[in-house]
Amino acid sequence: MLHSTPRQLPCWLKFVAPVAEQVRVTFLGGLGEIGRNCAAIEQDGRIVVVDAGLMFPEPNMYGVDLILPDFRWLIERRDKIDGIVLTHGHEDHTGALRYLVKDVNVPIYGSPLTVGFAKHRLSEAKVSADLTFIEVDDHERRRIGPFEVEFIPVTHSVPSAHALAFHTKAGVIVHSGDFKLDLTPIDGRRTDVSRLAQLGDEGVALLLCDSTNAEEPGFTASESSVGATLRRLFLERANRRMVVACFSSHIHRVQQIVDIALEQNRKICLMGRSMEANAKLARKLNLLHVDKADFVDVENIDRYEPGEVCVICTGAQGEPMAALSKLSRGDNRFLKVGPEDTIILSSHPIPGNEWSVGRVIDDLTRTGTEVIHSGKEAVHASGHARQGELRTFHQLLRPRNFIPVHGEYRHMIHHAALAESMGLERSHILVCEDGDQVEVSEKGIRRAGQIPAGFHYIDGGAGDLDERPLEERRMLAEFGVLMISAGIDGERGEIVHEVSVTARGWFEGEGDRSVQLTITNEVRSALTEALREGERSAEVLNRVAQRCAGRLLGQRFRRQPVLLPAIVVF
Ligand SMILES: [Zn+2]
Ligand SMILES: [Zn+2]
Repeated sequence: MLHSTPRQLPCWLKFVAPVAEQVRVTFLGGLGEIGRNCAAIEQDGRIVVVDAGLMFPEPNMYGVDLILPDFRWLIERRDKIDGIVLTHGHEDHTGALRYLVKDVNVPIYGSPLTVGFAKHRLSEAKVSADLTFIEVDDHERRRIGPFEVEFIPVTHSVPSAHALAFHTKAGVIVHSGDFKLDLTPIDGRRTDVSRLAQLGDEGVALLLCDSTNAEEPGFTASESSVGATLRRLFLERANRRMVVACFSSHIHRVQQIVDIALEQNRKICLMGRSMEANAKLARKLNLLHVDKADFVDVENIDRYEPGEVCVICTGAQGEPMAALSKLSRGDNRFLKVGPEDTIILSSHPIPGNEWSVGRVIDDLTRTGTEVIHSGKEAVHASGHARQGELRTFHQLLRPRNFIPVHGEYRHMIHHAALAESMGLERSHILVCEDGDQVEVSEKGIRRAGQIPAGFHYIDGGAGDLDERPLEERRMLAEFGVLMISAGIDGERGEIVHEVSVTARGWFEGEGDRSVQLTITNEVRSALTEALREGERSAEVLNRVAQRCAGRLLGQRFRRQPVLLPAIVVF
C-alpha cells in the first residue's frame, strides 16, 4: 500500500492539488521580542513582505548598534518578492529596510508619512539604491503580487498607521500592525472599525494581531488625555522654561505640546536632528500645524525669558547622543538647564532602557532642574491596545484562526488566552516564534516548517557580528583578560624570552602583584618541566601554561579571566 501515502503521489499530482488554496506566512522577527518586526505572506510562489524593522541591543550586547532579522531566507527568494508593505513609520517596522533593500529591491508601500520617514532614514544611511516608493491612501485597495492588499486606518503613536487586509485564496488575512482604539485621536483619524466589522461579516481566515499590551487590563488612555495633563503642568509653571522630551515620530504628541506652548505665547525650540527632520516632514504633509514664525533656534534661546520658550527635544529613552542626554551633561552650547527649568519626559522607557533613562533623570535632577516623568504624572499614553481594545478588535473581526504577533513570549501567551476567552477554539490559535512558518487554508492553520531567524547583530564599526564574538566580548567585559607570553628555543628546550603575565580588568595593588608573580613563577616551572620531558609542540606548551595559570587563579579567586597563552617556539 506504499503508493497510497502522500509521498508516493504521482509527480504530476503533486503540482496540482492541495497547494492551490494554501497561503503561507513566515515570521522573520517580532515574535518573542519587541522589535525587528518582519513577516512574509506567500501564495503561488509569490511573496509580499510586511515590515522590515530593527531592534535595539540590550546593555550586555557590547558594541552592537542594531539587531536585524535574519534576511537570508528572503534574499534567497528575492526573485519571488513583489513588494514590501510598511504598516507604519516606527523603527521596529522600518529600521532594517536600509539593509534589506541592498539585496531586495522591490516597490515599498506605505502611507505618505510612513514612506517619508523610511526615505529619510535611507538617505541618512546613504543608501543609494534606486528604490520605488508607492504612497497609499487610507482605505486604498491595491494589487501587490498575488494579493489585493487593503490599507485600513488605525490609531497608534505615530500618525497614518495602517492595519492590512490581504485578500488571498485562503480567505482574508488581517495584520493589525501596531494599533490602539483611540476614539479621540488628535487628528480625528480613527481606527476604521466599520470596515473591520465588515471584514468580520465577510469572514476573516486569519488574524495576526499586536500583543504588546495583552497583559494589561482595560483600555489604553487616549492620546488627547496626555494633552490635558501637559496643559495643567504648563499652566502651573507659566514662568518656567518648559523642556519636553518625546519620540520625534510622535507627531501628535509634538502637536499637543506646540498647541499648549502657543496658548502661553511661548516660542518653540526643536532640539535633536530627528525632531527637526520629522517635524519638517510632518509640516510638509500637513500633519503638524505650526507656523515657521513660532519657532526659535536654540542659538537664540537666550533672547527669551524662561516663560517665553518651550523646548521639544529627543532623548526621552536616555539615548546617550540625543538632545536630552546632552542637556543632562551640560553639553549643549546654547542651553544650560538648571533651577529655572522644568523637564518633562513625555514617554515611558522601552524595556531595556530603564537604566539609561534613570541615569538621565538623575543627572538632570543634579542640575537643580525639576524633572517630571510618567512615574509621577500621566504624561504619556501607550500606542498599543490593552485587553479591552484587543477584545473589541477580535469581536469586530471574529477570525477563524489567530496568531498573536508583536510581543515578547508572555505577551503572546496572554493574547492567545484572550482569543480563547472570546470563543475561538484552541486548535485555531497558534503561538508562534521567530522563524516559524504557518499554512492557512479553508480547513484551518497548521505549522509548516521553520527557517533560520536568529538575531543578526550589526556593529557599526565592524559590520556584521556573529554570536561567538559577541559572547567573547561579554566574557572579556565580565572577567577581564590575562595574557601569558614566553619564547622557547625549540632546539635547546629552554625558555629564552622570559615568561610574562599581563592582565586587563584584573590585578590591582600589592596583594595582586604577588599573585601575578606566583603565576609567572609557576608557569615558568610548568613549562621547564614539560621541556625537560621533551615537549616541543607550541600547542601543548600553550595548554600547559593556560592550565597552570587557570588552576592558580581558580584557587585564589574562584573565578578566572579569559586566558590568552602566547608561547612561541622558535
Ligand atoms: Zn509602532
Ligand atoms: Zn512596533
